[in-house]
Amino acid sequence: MQLEMGKSPTISRVKVLLPLPLAGPYDYAAGAHALSPGDYVRVPLGPRTVTGVIWDCDAAEAGDKEPVAEHKLREVETRIDLPPMPETLRRLIDWVAAYTLAAPGAVLKMTLNTPQALKPPPMRTVYRVGDVDGGTGAAIRMTPARQRVLDILADGPPQTASAVAEAAAVSSSVVKGLEKAGVLIAQKSKGDAPFAMPDPGHPRAELSEVQQTAADSVSAAVQKKSFEVLLLDGVTGAGKTEVYFEGIAAALELKRETLILVPEIALTVQWLERFESRFGIRPAEWHSDLGSGERRRAWRAVAEGGAPVLVGARSALFLPFANLGLIVVDEEHDSSYKQEDGVAYNARDMAIVRAREAEIPVILATATPSLETIVNAEQGRYTHLKISERHGDAGMPHVETIDMRTDPPPSQSWLSPQLSMALLKTIAAGEQALLFLNRRGYAPLTLCRACGHRLQCPNCQAWLVEHRHSSRLHCHHCDYAQAMPRECPSCKAEDKFAACGPGVERLAEEVHALLPDARIAVLSSDTLTGPVAIEEFIRRVEDHEVDILIGTQVVAKGHHFPLLTLVGVVDADLGLAGGDLRAAERTFQILSQVSGRAGRETRGGVAYLQTYMPDHPVMQALAAGDRDQFLACEGDSRKQLALPPYGRLAALILSSENEAAARQAGRALARSAPTGDGIMVLGPAPAPMALLRGRHRIRLLMKVPRAAPIQRLLQDWVTKAPPPRNVRLQIDIDPYSFN
Ligand code: ADP
Ligand code: ZN
Repeated sequence: MQLEMGKSPTISRVKVLLPLPLAGPYDYAAGAHALSPGDYVRVPLGPRTVTGVIWDCDAAEAGDKEPVAEHKLREVETRIDLPPMPETLRRLIDWVAAYTLAAPGAVLKMTLNTPQALKPPPMRTVYRVGDVDGGTGAAIRMTPARQRVLDILADGPPQTASAVAEAAAVSSSVVKGLEKAGVLIAQKSKGDAPFAMPDPGHPRAELSEVQQTAADSVSAAVQKKSFEVLLLDGVTGAGKTEVYFEGIAAALELKRETLILVPEIALTVQWLERFESRFGIRPAEWHSDLGSGERRRAWRAVAEGGAPVLVGARSALFLPFANLGLIVVDEEHDSSYKQEDGVAYNARDMAIVRAREAEIPVILATATPSLETIVNAEQGRYTHLKISERHGDAGMPHVETIDMRTDPPPSQSWLSPQLSMALLKTIAAGEQALLFLNRRGYAPLTLCRACGHRLQCPNCQAWLVEHRHSSRLHCHHCDYAQAMPRECPSCKAEDKFAACGPGVERLAEEVHALLPDARIAVLSSDTLTGPVAIEEFIRRVEDHEVDILIGTQVVAKGHHFPLLTLVGVVDADLGLAGGDLRAAERTFQILSQVSGRAGRETRGGVAYLQTYMPDHPVMQALAAGDRDQFLACEGDSRKQLALPPYGRLAALILSSENEAAARQAGRALARSAPTGDGIMVLGPAPAPMALLRGRHRIRLLMKVPRAAPIQRLLQDWVTKAPPPRNVRLQIDIDPYSFN
């Protein structure tokens, strides 16, 4: 008999993938439920009930191990009332699991991490205008607040008291009062408020000719409904956002969904405003700052096809879109697309996989493409759309290095005379300046002047960082924090601690001494703690309530401030220290980004890079504005060493609370390391972060030729020398971090 995939009651055995680190799907009996692949179900597991997804309705396949006997199968308890998980997402999950060597259930967990969305949505009380007096409220005392509420509800759909109150800028009691007076009528509504449809025909800015050409390619790709990777490669300020908005418009016209991935969703306040002015409303959002109710609303809306456009952090890639028409990866080069904990995946790469599975285009937008991406474009695998000029009259900023060996700052200061002078001039001209220093807190290191002891985290191999903002010492790698001690833990000397080196807080002191009247804002993840703080910061800069911004990488990207004409990079060499595979590439990217904040409108912009290595290829390329030359050199040296993108890497990180156990497991792995043409294994060696959150860490690095079956090699290898129970092994394919 032929088994049908539809809702056929003849299927008795189903395979259910559970969001747990298990080998694969488990068999269950369908019982009386009509089940199809993709259905969300509740099933018993030991004494618990867990939510899973029907992965397959077929009976046991060839090659399966001995199937569980029919009478031993436990039964599916409930089928959750939701559209099934789309097949393209199920295939993506399998693909990511196979690629990263993670358990499929661990990948599924990234989709099912919003348990509240899988429960029936709560009932809401919504309000509409009643029929008394034709809804005019003629019989009651009318106030401006009441009138605004009535106006909003007269024109739109029923809304909750809090939503109307917010829209009308009144308190909820006004709404309740109107209900009591009989003017408004309360009714129950199932589910969350839907997301409105962005309007592709909303009036928009006119595109320049180059922008229009790029936009046409993007729209055509969306209309073609086939897989294509488009590299939207345009200098900072080129208007890449405006260009890919046209792709979104094309998808909206086709009633298809768009997913936009951004590296730091908390920093997209200005982006959201631009979206609103292009499409009339804000899109759905997905990020870790969402409250539990908002998360449920977004997840369910996606699952039910009610989120036409969603912008999100990397985890949005695993949302259950059924009708995607376009994926955009903004700032594709950004290393925050790489997740290191848990399933080690790169959301940029997996977005390309999802697009391929869904047969849709994906746009990679950036001013500083990663080497991987540029090589793919050069080899013709990606469509390369180039915009080499800023939009309108804005020119590119002038970038200059300051040689710190010949123009050093005074002792215990960090600004060279040249940069100080530029700062004074900029502020005198009524313009704004940004000083970039990628170091949070006051000082990166605190030491005892009596004995030289350095204050270190007890759980990590890392210095404690002084934060005057919170007047504590913090570890930036774990949660550890303590008050500044009076006494040195080593020599017991009192009050002998000295701060070494600058963080943004300390730099602010220096700038304040230089320009006592200037209004300074210190910006890092410590001060920009959420969307509200960021919105307020942007407003203050836009309203010129701030003269000098001092910030870490949180201010390096995305922002567009017309008055900002000077960028000073306080320590341009910082990212080059350590020298991992991408140190030069990453430094080039972030310094291009931060320089690109200067002079974004008609006032010219200047960026100064303070460096002790003005001859370094990165500094030379930045000063010459010659990205392509830099990428070519970087590419050549990677090619010679067969490093990515010309070869492939996998990192193996062993960690344990027991140092000897980790070392021993490392030696055991090394002994059974794979050999063969072009295969090289480095290590075991203590990781640069040899102690992290109380765990001792040993690393091995495997380098293989591009075409080598890296997953199979790793699997065979690990099977030969599995680590003992007290040692955890993390495999990271295409690693970004070498700590
Ligand atoms: P990029 O992302 O390439 O750095 P943006 O998309 O942020 O550049 O654009 C830079 C600035 O130029 C933004 O303020 C944007 O609103 C403006 N801009 C870009 N294109 C246009 C256009 N065609 N008309 C008007 N303003 C534009
Ligand atoms: Zn720590």
